[in-house]
Amino acid sequence: MIIVMKQGATRQEIDYVADMITAKGGITVNPMYGSDLTILGLIGDTSRIDPAQLESFRCVERIMKVAEPFKKANRMFHPGASEVKVGDTVVGGTKLSVMAGPCSVESNEQITEVARAVKEAGATILRGGAFKPRTSPYSFQGLEYQGLDMLCHARELTGLPIVTELMSPYDIDKFEDKVDCIQVGARNMQNFDLLKRLGKTRKPILLKRGMSATIEEWLMSAEYIMAGGNENIILCERGIRTFETYTRNTTDLSAICAVKKLSHLPVIVDPSHATGKYWMVQPLARAAIAVGADGLMIEVHNDPAHALCDGAQSIKPDAFAEVMADIRNIARAVGREI
Ligand code: PEP
Ligand code: MN
Repeated sequence: MIIVMKQGATRQEIDYVADMITAKGGITVNPMYGSDLTILGLIGDTSRIDPAQLESFRCVERIMKVAEPFKKANRMFHPGASEVKVGDTVVGGTKLSVMAGPCSVESNEQITEVARAVKEAGATILRGGAFKPRTSPYSFQGLEYQGLDMLCHARELTGLPIVTELMSPYDIDKFEDKVDCIQVGARNMQNFDLLKRLGKTRKPILLKRGMSATIEEWLMSAEYIMAGGNENIILCERGIRTFETYTRNTTDLSAICAVKKLSHLPVIVDPSHATGKYWMVQPLARAAIAVGADGLMIEVHNDPAHALCDGAQSIKPDAFAEVMADIRNIARAVGREI
């Protein structure tokens, strides 16, 4: 971090700012005195410094950040790519992970039928929402605890580990007991109480990008969980809000390249929520693997036209099998495998 002092800042003011920062511990302040301007170069752990607070000093002109504010999620301090174990499968590394299943668990029959089909096609993790974050309070809210039990039953039948969304910190004990990976949805990416609580578990967390979150904000949310002690995080790009209305969201594939450079955490793409259209899932799945994603999350439903949630973006099991065959080829081309 670099602090640019105001033109004409007195020696007393410069020393005051430098001493205040040194007193925080773990930081060395290197002043460079110019004829017009003085700048202070800060070396060390600046994560506890609030740039906005420093800018409130009348003798400070501006603050320039040279390192990212996230540390544990930062590739600079962890050059190797991280791998996260979910049940007996691993997310990250050379093998791609594919999480597939319906948006919501609707019945025992529905989830077991879809679970068997996606397993057969090569999915590595079963997804299904039991607690649904819906825009309208009148829409289907999920089967809740019953839905969790149905997912567990589908895991027993297929052997696939399960991932499902947690909405409230009050349910975390039940989720710790029952699920293999806890999903934090886009709408809760900055629910900091929830993130802090998830720092205390050792369950893997699938952290979806908030619909209006910058890449830095997303990585700072991962940092919240990691700062609490849980480093088992998988990131998921699920599209962001832009001015475009043709698609439900805009699929930000450049975020995959950015996250791979900035962080060591595995990152997957959800082309279902990222487009909102079933016929765009296959091309975007291909593109995601081609740009270096560690896997995919895809909504699969046995009867999309009657799905209780997200039918328009859900593909049928036979289309899912086609996507799997297709991305196998792309994976080979980019040195990955399924
Ligand atoms: C989901 O995975 O069904 C979901 C609600 O996703 P998101 O949080 O990305 O909207
Ligand atoms: Mn959905």
